[in-house]
Amino acid sequence: MTLTLDSKPHAASLAEIRAKVRDGARLSLAEGDVLYSTPDIWGVCELANEVRWRWHGDVAYYNINRHLNYSNVCALSCKFCEFYRKRDEPGAYTRDMDYVREEARKAVEAGATEIHSVGGLHPYLPWDYYPNLVRTIKETARAMGSDLHVKAFTAVEIVHLARIAKVYKGANDPTPEGRAARMEGIRWVLERLKEAGLGSLPGGGAEVFDDRVHDEAFKGKIRSDVWLDVHRVAHSMGLHSNATILYGHVEDRRERLVHMDMLRRAQDEALAGRAADCDGAAAPRGSFQAIIPLPFFPDGSDLEHLPGPAGLENLRTLAVARLMLDNVPHVKAFWIMQTLPMAQLMLQCGADDIDGTIVWYDITKVPQGSAEAATHQEVTVATLQKAIREAGFLPVERDTLYRTVTRNGNRWQVGGT
Ligand code: SF4
Repeated sequence: MTLTLDSKPHAASLAEIRAKVRDGARLSLAEGDVLYSTPDIWGVCELANEVRWRWHGDVAYYNINRHLNYSNVCALSCKFCEFYRKRDEPGAYTRDMDYVREEARKAVEAGATEIHSVGGLHPYLPWDYYPNLVRTIKETARAMGSDLHVKAFTAVEIVHLARIAKVYKGANDPTPEGRAARMEGIRWVLERLKEAGLGSLPGGGAEVFDDRVHDEAFKGKIRSDVWLDVHRVAHSMGLHSNATILYGHVEDRRERLVHMDMLRRAQDEALAGRAADCDGAAAPRGSFQAIIPLPFFPDGSDLEHLPGPAGLENLRTLAVARLMLDNVPHVKAFWIMQTLPMAQLMLQCGADDIDGTIVWYDITKVPQGSAEAATHQEVTVATLQKAIREAGFLPVERDTLYRTVTRNGNRWQVGGT
């Protein structure tokens, strides 16, 4: 497969792109431009749907999970973020281990297979808090005769943890030695979290891989090279991860396409390493399981003056992600940010997963009433299954690693029929 990275205008028509996709060939950035600029949005969606069928047939996934935002206190102030609070601000919170234990207990009682936990970059919590959080979830589940997969800490948080554990060296060193020192600190953190029971990394914090966008909207956060290095280290340790793109703020469509291209190249690398492992030794490496396009919500952020993306742009971006990221198996229509009706539509435009029951979600509050009501975002399994069936697909419950789950009430197991 040839990767074409030229930015010269390319007159490919959608028909030519369709032929290329059917041949399994990789699309160039210029062809991505066509997918974004063609007025035939339904043609783009139809093509993405074709690819989605090739990967997954009539199956669409959901899971039973619970989100746990351990703290919204953050040292940074990203302009697109309405989640963070400063330590003494009204609404700031940090959960203790009793709270974590109780959330894990509720998750097990509800039959959840996963806890998804992320938070702000808390400036004062000690390093021990984080492995303790993972351990507390795992031990609570085990004591109840069950298990919970802990998917926790974005790449941004992992680097923050390396800093507070004082193992993050070479932060400002652009040489290969500086990078090696940074990766060593990242590995130190991930090894200890994995020992505590961490199962995988979520895909947050990627935003848009572009220095201009970074400096304008989330200065202070790690840049794309470090985000990708965190995932590289995780993959090398056998941990799977996801990837996001937060679009519809100060970036343009070409910058989104470059982001997608950087991700698929990182995935090429991960899959090549995984294939080499399977040929030989130990446990295979991890890779990116899913790409999750996330629309920007302006309300309450420092970019409130921007309109944010509208419905058709959300559909198109998801379809483009399916077509460009030809080596990432899953595309998630994260219903909580896309809304459930839109997630249904997205299942016909390239998505194969709508995520889960969630219960509480503090990161972005889709406006639908009071702020408090908006953080309680639970849907039932029956609602998720109905949404998938209405979209024309067979609902299949998955665990975090996309293995089929079979269950009897709140007792579950991976595999089986
Ligand atoms: S996006 Fe993350 S790092 Fe940035 S302010 Fe919000 S919580 Fe903090």
